[in-house]
Amino acid sequence: MQLSRIAKLRTVLQENGLEALLVTNAFNRFYLTGFSGSAGYVLITGSKAYLLVDFRYTTQAAEQAAQFEIVEHAVKPMDTVKELLSGLGIRRIGFEQQDVTYGGYISYREQLGSIELVATDSLVENLRMVKDEQEIAVMQEAADLADRTFSHILGFIKPGVSERELAVELEMFMRRHGATSTSFETIVASGERSALPHGKASDRVLKWNEFVKFDFGALYKGYCSDITRTVVLGQPTEQHKKIYDIVREAQSYALEHIKPGMTGIEADALARGVIAKYGYADHFGHGLGHGLGLEIHEAPRLSKTGETVLAPGMMVTVEPGIYIPGFGGVRIEDDVVITEQGLRILTHSSKDLIVIN
Ligand code: ZN
Ligand code: ZN
Repeated sequence: MQLSRIAKLRTVLQENGLEALLVTNAFNRFYLTGFSGSAGYVLITGSKAYLLVDFRYTTQAAEQAAQFEIVEHAVKPMDTVKELLSGLGIRRIGFEQQDVTYGGYISYREQLGSIELVATDSLVENLRMVKDEQEIAVMQEAADLADRTFSHILGFIKPGVSERELAVELEMFMRRHGATSTSFETIVASGERSALPHGKASDRVLKWNEFVKFDFGALYKGYCSDITRTVVLGQPTEQHKKIYDIVREAQSYALEHIKPGMTGIEADALARGVIAKYGYADHFGHGLGHGLGLEIHEAPRLSKTGETVLAPGMMVTVEPGIYIPGFGGVRIEDDVVITEQGLRILTHSSKDLIVIN
């Protein structure tokens, strides 16, 4: 798998007129090498693939990154990069502009001397957008774990329990069932707090007859899942039911109509149109979704600025919401993979309005 990723990256380098790329981003490093250590540099040239690590990681790197030549780097890693490049006669190298700080750039320039540094933008990230079969399989497992966690937490929702206790319970469940950690800070937002799109779990205690919104995910074998479900504790009012139904309709409509060849802007507009039809356009203030994979938020974006054209293998969330300050809010979020025909949904928790009595 790593071999084909290196081959694809080499083609990208050729297209960009680059003989070599220095990869410093940790997610990109893992993606290209399979090496899960916390530090290291990847150097890809037309003929060579090096993984530079410090003393702590030489053994682990050799085990995990079999396709790479493992090099223990000098105290100043760029000294080793310079040496390797000089040996290959390479005078010009791409670096990842989104990852290197200004200070890092200055010191790379000093240490690399006459080797020219060329800023590149998202070369590996663009490859990462389209998931391969192996990645999709792992992400399905991460999504399954999120579904099981949601079923588990339903049994703990009752008046008097705090949002924080629910968050701890669901996080423990995910850890116990194979998650490395959560994929982001767990959101449990109840009552009027459910109107906060990103209401992190607080000490607020649940009461009868209000929304409880859960947005959480597992980091599992390096990959993220991300699911949102909103339930009602006690008796839903007409307004609870009304806004829930609109969000559900908007989400279903988007799921039925998103197709490859469409831009993120067009996908976003599908759900936005449904919500606007009912007069709630001003209450849906975020994008429809985001790419996810090694990172919880990655390309492509389904939003008013998401110009990327959707293609089979891209993994995105579809998560419309309506938020009414002082009352509450609803979001429904699934993880989906774009297919030749449309999309396939990875998260399967029920989207009927769940009422807990
Ligand atoms: Zn989410
Ligand atoms: Zn999300």
